[in-house]
Amino acid sequence: MKKYLSPIIILAVFEAVAVTLWLTKDNLFYLFNFSYIGISVSLGVILFIRKNIYAIRLVQLLVGLYMLIYLGLICNENMQIEGFWYYLFTGVFEAATIHYAVAKIFGPLVFGRGWCGYACWTAMVLDFLPYKTPAGPRKKLGWVRYVTFAASLIFVSALFLAHVGNLERIMFWSFIIGNVLYYTVGIVLAFVFKDNRAFCKYICPITVFLKPMSYFSLIRVKCDKEKCISCGKCKRVCPMNVDVTDNSRTRENGTECILCMECVKNCPKKALD
Ligand code: SF4
Ligand code: SF4
Ligand code: SF4
Repeated sequence: MKKYLSPIIILAVFEAVAVTLWLTKDNLFYLFNFSYIGISVSLGVILFIRKNIYAIRLVQLLVGLYMLIYLGLICNENMQIEGFWYYLFTGVFEAATIHYAVAKIFGPLVFGRGWCGYACWTAMVLDFLPYKTPAGPRKKLGWVRYVTFAASLIFVSALFLAHVGNLERIMFWSFIIGNVLYYTVGIVLAFVFKDNRAFCKYICPITVFLKPMSYFSLIRVKCDKEKCISCGKCKRVCPMNVDVTDNSRTRENGTECILCMECVKNCPKKALD
């Protein structure tokens, strides 16, 4: 039973958020939304503990498709970064602002970049591509994320400053166009760099929030130095080039860990946990 403690805690945290938002905002949607995500993630963690090889893919599809198809296309909620700026500027704490607060700004203090490993609808598609382990070292292109971050902020600010009408419709179309762009650039980069996660490493603007917050993450993969034989396998299988044998918070690419547990599964000495 002890081994199922983490999915129980995850479900409890999501339920606490679900009930709190349902009661404070008097909207049943929040109860459904966060319960669904909590159940999906907990189910994935249970399957992972039971060594099911499809556990992570299942969670990615359950949460990713729900957010992309149901929230994005059916409910017309722009859950991309432009949607976050939009709701922030209108002063409304709902939809994208809640999503960002939970998954991408404060949540990473607890579960790091778990969002990137298990729930993101962009990575949900990119992870189907053939380059699960990067073919070479990281490129020095991380600065591009700050350009895309600034571009998204400038785009939405300009709409507000110019008093453009029908912003809701514009946000819906920016969600569609933004996703088409993300998928296209992500797939092209994956093939060019032979690295499924190249988009995450160099382009994604959301990492500007995710990286500093996940630096303090409570949940981290740690290495038992007594067991480690420095074989380097963990680094070779890591999709994000993290040096997981270094337990310090400043470890190489430490804020890039997406908690996919590939290193843990592949360590021949069971030194990672
Ligand atoms: S880095 Fe961006 S695109 Fe990649 S998984 Fe995280 S949120 Fe998604
Ligand atoms: S795979 Fe395991 S034994 Fe090998 S370097 Fe990594 S932690 Fe050490
Ligand atoms: S392989 Fe390990 S260090 Fe690399 S992203 Fe996955 S969990 Fe993090």
